[in-house]
Amino acid sequence: MSYYSRSSPFANSAIVAGIYLPELLNKEITPGEALDWLEQKEQTFFEIRNNFELPANVIQNFIEGKGSNKFPETSYSFGVFDYDFRELFPEAIYQSMRKSLIEFSRKIKGFEEGIIMGFESKTSSPIQVIRDDKYLAAGFENLYVIGEGSRRAGGIISSAVDGIKAATTLIE
Ligand SMILES: Cc1cc2nc3c(=O)[nH]c(=O)nc-3n(C[C@H](O)[C@H](O)[C@H](O)COP(=O)(O)OP(=O)(O)OC[C@H]3O[C@@H](n4cnc5c(N)ncnc54)[C@H](O)[C@@H]3O)c2cc1C
Repeated sequence: MSYYSRSSPFANSAIVAGIYLPELLNKEITPGEALDWLEQKEQTFFEIRNNFELPANVIQNFIEGKGSNKFPETSYSFGVFDYDFRELFPEAIYQSMRKSLIEFSRKIKGFEEGIIMGFESKTSSPIQVIRDDKYLAAGFENLYVIGEGSRRAGGIISSAVDGIKAATTLIE
């Protein structure tokens, strides 16, 4: 992670656990219910302390199912506290993350000394704006929704390119 010169000692990344909610919850659910489920999970993380401190664990301890009484320095300014992630996630999610972290730690020396913290419930916008070839949102005469929010892009570069293409189209 670097704000400018790539000299920060911290790497900041996320582990994505893909889930299929009907299978996980063993019932049919609507898209709205799926979003509610994610929001509820985020709420649960917040309500442990009712502030922006984050539940966390050292990766090696997460893998071994143990708590951590000491954390290495972190770039997260609100602070972290030890928490058992199995109380926050269904077992299937915990196990898939655990297996991935074992693999990362095997391939990247020192990865297991890092901290796993917090929860980001979505990897990109969960809704898609319908728009035409000129990037105009359906039903509007002057609304151009671009980048991540249009769900036509899923990251920094693709969002930027989407924005450039939309602007160029508009100018032309
Ligand atoms: C923690 C995290 C890590 C990520 N890591 C990566 C990564 O490693 N690689 C990668 O490719 N992508 C990553 N992403 C995703 C990436 O950041 C987004 O896909 C990308 O920034 C979307 O660009 P955007 O221009 O569509 O939206 P944004 O970058 O969100 O820009 C939207 C802008 O609109 C402004 N805005 C909002 N409302 C208003 C308003 N009413 N009036 C005026 N301005 C307004 C906001 O302030 C903001 O500046 C990450 C995202 C997060 C949250």
